[in-house]
Amino acid sequence: MSSDIQKMCAGDPPLTARLASWMSDLLADPQVTQRVVEEYGSPVNVLHTGALAGNASDLSDAAAELDIDLRVFFARKANKALSFVDAARDAGLGVDVASENELRQVLDRGVQPHNVIVTAAVKPPPLLELCLSRNVPVALDNHDEADGYLSMLAARGDGAPPAPVALRIASQNDAIAPTRFGMSVPDWLEWLDTRNVSALLFEGVHFHLHGYSPHNRAIVVDEALQFIDALRQRGHRPSFIDMGGGIPMSYLNNEAEWDAFEAAHKSAILHQRPPITWRNDGFGRREEAGALAGTRNTYPYFQRPIRGDWLRALVAAHATTHTPNRALSTELRDRGLHLRCEPGRSLLDGCGMTLAKVLFRKKSSDGIPLVGLEMNRTQCRSTSADFLVDPILVRGDQSGRPNSPFAGFLVGAYCVEDELILRRKLNFPHGVAVGDIVALPNTAGYLMHILESESHQLPLARNIVVRDDGLVEDDIGR
Ligand SMILES: *Cc1c(COP(=O)(O)O)cnc(C)c1O
Repeated sequence: MSSDIQKMCAGDPPLTARLASWMSDLLADPQVTQRVVEEYGSPVNVLHTGALAGNASDLSDAAAELDIDLRVFFARKANKALSFVDAARDAGLGVDVASENELRQVLDRGVQPHNVIVTAAVKPPPLLELCLSRNVPVALDNHDEADGYLSMLAARGDGAPPAPVALRIASQNDAIAPTRFGMSVPDWLEWLDTRNVSALLFEGVHFHLHGYSPHNRAIVVDEALQFIDALRQRGHRPSFIDMGGGIPMSYLNNEAEWDAFEAAHKSAILHQRPPITWRNDGFGRREEAGALAGTRNTYPYFQRPIRGDWLRALVAAHATTHTPNRALSTELRDRGLHLRCEPGRSLLDGCGMTLAKVLFRKKSSDGIPLVGLEMNRTQCRSTSADFLVDPILVRGDQSGRPNSPFAGFLVGAYCVEDELILRRKLNFPHGVAVGDIVALPNTAGYLMHILESESHQLPLARNIVVRDDGLVEDDIGR
């Protein structure tokens, strides 16, 4: 399943990345790859917007087959580059923003206010003022926030048009994990019934769930439908249900590799084989009395269904959870609703990779082989315990001496013992040397930016876009 360029570096067992063709093309040319790092520094985030529109159509095509009016909003926090905002705008998508700066930038890029939704977890007054002045819909999270917005609206005086909002609901279903976000439907109804809300236009109902379960989303879509009915009874005219993000993608093509990794990792945690992770890290699991305890706290790097098939699974799950048995498309159409989603990660599938230069090889004091990269671990990191995808090693003209096989761990620039770039042991069957480039594939969704820091006064990685006419720095870095 792996291409030639993927034979120079692999985990044991391997987790072979699915590469977009622009990635393979670039990495197949060591001189070009080296030049990108020389010119822009190490590490460098290399971006390509080509896959974004197609990833969104996977969802909208499936929705069309299912007879559902689906509108896709790109969750911008997954990558800060402005090129993706432009690509989303040009593909006719909306944008979900999480801060005042994100919002300002998105409006400056020409995204129409009604194609934006503000779901920021905290909304300081200047953010709400900007929403108000540009008529941008806000997903209200709680009573204090909503009351604050009402006071802001009251200060505008008479005759101002109502401000568009959605209400974020927290599910009360026992199957859904507890959440800090949103309020229960009864709490919102109590709020609606005790305030003068004539300054607000209730456009929709919003939620966002942890995890990727289509079944769980079907459950909460049902709660949202009931809330919509309660809003309509109160004379409001909501037009959408927004089910947030968490739409799955898969970094690997090969399920058997994922299963083999899982099996090997479990035996390693149980000391039935040598460790395959840094100091036998269990990624949330551990051995207790000879058995495995805890749950794996990484992203499911292989998963099915994804995107369009996942939406089909959601609609199928809705049919089984709902009584009486009515199709989701019918439920939505009868109420004049469209469905919205806010994928971040899965829209960026195939849209970026991170390149870093090898600066040294050594052994730890207890003999563990290490490869030192010119990067730090916040530059390829999400909330997942590890990025479980094999890097690609690009060997330069100078490298190859010595050319003996090497097996070890990638370490980075922060002065802490636990500074691993990846926590799996990697094999370099044809060696690894100073000046080689390590490419971390498919990092555009979260891995590049969500946790990056400038600790030690190390500069942030630059963001370089591959376009038909060459490489250009993304405007976010200007
Ligand atoms: C983070 C977030 C998203 C995007 O989630 P993905 O897992 O990247 O699809 C969408 N909506 C809200 C409200 C979020 O917080």
